[in-house]
Amino acid sequence: MIPEQVPNHVDGDDVPAASGEWIDKHRPADGSLLTRVARSGAADVAAAVAAARRAQPAWAERTVVARGELVRELALALRERREELSEVVAAETGKSLELARGETDAAIEMGFFVAGEGRRYYGRTTTASMAHRTVTAVRQPVGVAALVTSFNTPLANVAWKVFPAILCGNACVLKPSEHTPASAHLLATVCCKVGVPAGVVNVVQGLGPEAGAALVEHPGVDLLSFTGSATTGRWINETAGRRLAKVCLELGGKNALVVCDDADLGGAVRSSLASAFSNAGQRCASASRIVVFDSVYDEFLGRFVSEAERYEAGPVIAEAALERLLDAVRAAEAGGGRVLCGGDRLDRPGWWLAATVLEGVAPDADVSSTELFGPVTILYRVRDFDEALALVNDSPYGLTAAIHTASVHRAMRFADQAQAGVVVVNGGTHGSEPHMGFGGVKQSGTGWREAGVEALDVYSEWKYVNVITDPARI
Ligand code: NAD
Repeated sequence: MIPEQVPNHVDGDDVPAASGEWIDKHRPADGSLLTRVARSGAADVAAAVAAARRAQPAWAERTVVARGELVRELALALRERREELSEVVAAETGKSLELARGETDAAIEMGFFVAGEGRRYYGRTTTASMAHRTVTAVRQPVGVAALVTSFNTPLANVAWKVFPAILCGNACVLKPSEHTPASAHLLATVCCKVGVPAGVVNVVQGLGPEAGAALVEHPGVDLLSFTGSATTGRWINETAGRRLAKVCLELGGKNALVVCDDADLGGAVRSSLASAFSNAGQRCASASRIVVFDSVYDEFLGRFVSEAERYEAGPVIAEAALERLLDAVRAAEAGGGRVLCGGDRLDRPGWWLAATVLEGVAPDADVSSTELFGPVTILYRVRDFDEALALVNDSPYGLTAAIHTASVHRAMRFADQAQAGVVVVNGGTHGSEPHMGFGGVKQSGTGWREAGVEALDVYSEWKYVNVITDPARI
């Protein structure tokens, strides 16, 4: 299943890092050693980028229909290995097999959606002021794409980037999270098996500041597509910006879910639980702020906390992540916040934090604006809709937002005025599907949308082609 060592995958071959070094990767669920990961650096990145540069022109020569057919083969092959992939994802992330299966299915569906785009891949025609001139706009590949991903939904994060990147005629170098090397390696293996040419999909494993930074700095990379934290994203944008490379950043969130006085409280509690704690709260779209009208606050709190006390959120990814979360909870308490449930490490091996609910935290406290990326949420009490909306928008991030209300007027005003890339009415702060563009405003990203046809804009460039159809007459 998971090999004892997870190597790089360059030019169609599995290779160790040039350094010969390996990093230990532990199981979040019990802390035991799971595998060892190639510790790559600049030399490995250089080899992978060179392989991608060699492979890309011939890949781009194929029709987009043919590339789409290979993406479909890839999705079919992944579907055949669904159980194996799900087990790998569950082992390396610590999430349940059920969640891992859902993620694997989402990655496969993304493959089918992107494959279909090979049959559309529409360009445009436009008018021209000059007679006898035909103008069309067509998509062109960008070149070599560096894809840097986070650990939280490793297979889906990789699928969202690799499928559209190769459909559009790019070759890619993927740097998965050091916490989730095995699912990315398995995907590269399946690419080879279905006939994606060597060098089109390369994987360089390793640490962010080593393998990741070398990839960002490599002048042979034309496009950087990154999913991860705002801190890393800012550094990538600055570094790649110096050579004016194209950069797509999908970053964090501090997503708010509003519970109005006319909400169905049962639905609001269910949505809040799943939004705050599923995948151990390690979701960019997790509801880390729950904003409740004063008149229903106490009833909501009672019902939500009693469910949260029984909620098994799952382990977080690593010891350092757990310690960072515990520090944040202690800081919130020091600032006057109260822990209503959870707040402590569970007494078992691995990195388990009980689902944690806080209240009484000031909206301008650090913990109210910093993304925690764990099973911790904060309740805020507000007078009315205007105060709720102001609190929702009082955030450096703007990824997703949700409101629970029976009022169509409130729902529509919220949809219009919440500063977020995704808004949900009477549901959780999630709900993305392969055909829906996903991304945020403010520090949640740089304006791109991944998934959907919008993803094609990340991985292709528009070219306007002017043809003078009758030169003798102009
Ligand atoms: P992270 O920024 O620590 O790491 C993300 C990736 O970047 C990893 O592969 C890491 O090795 C690499 N990296 C780290 N430092 C680097 C550097 N200097 N140069 C190049 N690469 C480097 O983030 P994480 O902890 O893996 O993921 C959590 C974050 O991801 C959260 O902020 C979450 O909201 C965000 N996220 C966003 C989305 C989205 O679609 N918006 C989806 C999932 C996760």
